[in-house]
Amino acid sequence: MTDSAIAVDLGGTNIRAALVDRNGQIGPVVSRHTGAPEGPDAVIDRMVALVSEVVNTAQPGPETMVGVVAPGPLNPLTGVLHFGPNLPGWHDVPLRDILGRRLNRRVVIGNDANSAALGELMFGAARQVRHLIYIALGTGVGGGIVSHGQLIEGTRGVGGEVGHVSVDPFGPRCHCGGIGCIESYVGGWAIARDGEMLVRSGRSGAIEAAARDGPITAEVVAEAARLGDAAARGIFQRAGQALGIGLGGLVNVFNPEMIVIGGGLAAVGDLLLDPVRENLPRYAMAQIYPDVTIRPSALGTNTGLFGAAARVFYHEQSSTSPVDE
Ligand code: ADP
Ligand code: MG
Ligand code: ZN
Repeated sequence: MTDSAIAVDLGGTNIRAALVDRNGQIGPVVSRHTGAPEGPDAVIDRMVALVSEVVNTAQPGPETMVGVVAPGPLNPLTGVLHFGPNLPGWHDVPLRDILGRRLNRRVVIGNDANSAALGELMFGAARQVRHLIYIALGTGVGGGIVSHGQLIEGTRGVGGEVGHVSVDPFGPRCHCGGIGCIESYVGGWAIARDGEMLVRSGRSGAIEAAARDGPITAEVVAEAARLGDAAARGIFQRAGQALGIGLGGLVNVFNPEMIVIGGGLAAVGDLLLDPVRENLPRYAMAQIYPDVTIRPSALGTNTGLFGAAARVFYHEQSSTSPVDE
């Protein structure tokens, strides 16, 4: 087993990379604009260049593995990225093998949120925890489930989509094609949609004012809510209720010790978490609910990199000791 990993985050407008050790010490972060519209070849070239920068600076040994996290459906078992929501032109790209050949290193790839669950476990808010539900409230809603210390990803490795559990058969259409998913209430796009609807129907002058002629975003709705606007608060109330219902069902299935809430939208805090805390006990069984603690993520802006490194260490650990307990 190696003591560090080269972590690469393909999640955002920039590709980021750094060396991360087993104690969660992170080296200098190098980054480059993803340039996603140029397509897979150009993006992969940049990933290779960034890893080379990290290698030249930190001089890890040849056995040091590379961990890559990306949003969207990918198969960590075959190393194929099926599709990238923010990566035009990516269709069933064998990313792991391409990078492995070009870097001459072993590579693992993982979904960003599933990997973040491992990151929280190894370096973040859920250390020592073996039963975790992680949820990332961003533009979309990602998630990851760890049960008995094992990351639950299913038959093709695309599972753990906590955000796409439906809580309402009559709910909004979700970006995934489903109806009434948690994401269709709590995702940043859903909060913005609801804010826009209020403004268009003339029911929230406060949201309109907070937008200052700019676009209506989740931040704008949060600002109006903090200023006391009842309609804006109602959006977070409804979103928190949806999240509480969904998490309640998951708590019943997994009997977790902890729920960790991450992502940019988690910054709204109690506005969203109060209705979650109110609804969770209504939808989780009385015998199961008391075991769970709700915590904010502890990984911050480097969540992607910690997740990528955790993926490497998790892979090494599970390939040396297949028996978990
Ligand atoms: P991603 O787009 O990769 O999911 P983030 O996890 O950073 O990125 O989440 C971005 C979403 O969170 C956007 O919808 C944004 O409007 C929202 N957001 C970010 N910061 C805040 C904040 N302080 N208050 C409310 N919403 C926020
Ligand atoms: Mg994300
Ligand atoms: Zn969905």
